[in-house]
Amino acid sequence: MNNNAWEIGVFSSIDAGLGVALDVAGTLQVPTIQLHAPSQAVRTKKHADDFLAKIAGMGIRLTAVFGGFEGESYADIPTTAATVGLVPLETRTARLTEMKEICDFARMLHCDVAALHLGFVPHADEHPDEYAQIVDITQELTEHCRLNNQSLHLETGQESAEHLLRFIQDVDRDNLFINFDPANMILYGTGNPIEALQQVGSYVRSVHCKDAKWAANPGQEWGAEVPLGEGDVGMKDYLTTLQEIGYQGPLTIEREIPQEPERQQAEIGHAVGLLKELRAELLG
Ligand code: MG
Repeated sequence: MNNNAWEIGVFSSIDAGLGVALDVAGTLQVPTIQLHAPSQAVRTKKHADDFLAKIAGMGIRLTAVFGGFEGESYADIPTTAATVGLVPLETRTARLTEMKEICDFARMLHCDVAALHLGFVPHADEHPDEYAQIVDITQELTEHCRLNNQSLHLETGQESAEHLLRFIQDVDRDNLFINFDPANMILYGTGNPIEALQQVGSYVRSVHCKDAKWAANPGQEWGAEVPLGEGDVGMKDYLTTLQEIGYQGPLTIEREIPQEPERQQAEIGHAVGLLKELRAELLG
């Protein structure tokens, strides 16, 4: 492990979006962030330059830019399947174009990682034509990223580890990787997060530190997102497994309770402390 392994980070945004407000990252004095892409009006060179100056002043390094789209809703699992990412057919072409623009905005921010929830990838055996179309657009997007000298990271959760591995192998592009989110495996009911991490480990290039409890009926209803360390992930097992797969990148905390910003900041602050303790224990 190198000295810069496992830098703490938070998932944040600069206008409406997922993650915590950027100023909170400054208050918590974390060295890295991932950014949820701002709306189109904000994705300009001027805003990019202002943003870079601001995070430089805060001593923060940007490690990934996440795409997100108007009309996405995580209200429940069926709504998520119908509205999130590049899979929904009605919005697919427009969102593919927008995601390329988000990658270009990430390049303006000198960021070599773009990421997103692709959506619920159909099963190859059940829906071969639909599956082939998603493979095609993912190849198109990774090629766009390549022109920007970027990698594309797929957020986990909506697929089982086996399904995601097969998909990545079918897309077959060497700049396609995984942003591993252990809580999502529990929230969506797609598998034990530690076992999934062991399975997909060679593709993991960024991670979320998020925690959750299993639903009574996993896969049919949401599990519950909870503060880091209070859920079913097992943070020590998670970090131990990250160590085993040789992961040295940032540990990016995600806590999605935007309706309660004070509680969000307090819980992220606690998560920073927990991760620092575990990092000291495991990395020495
Ligand atoms: Mg996540």
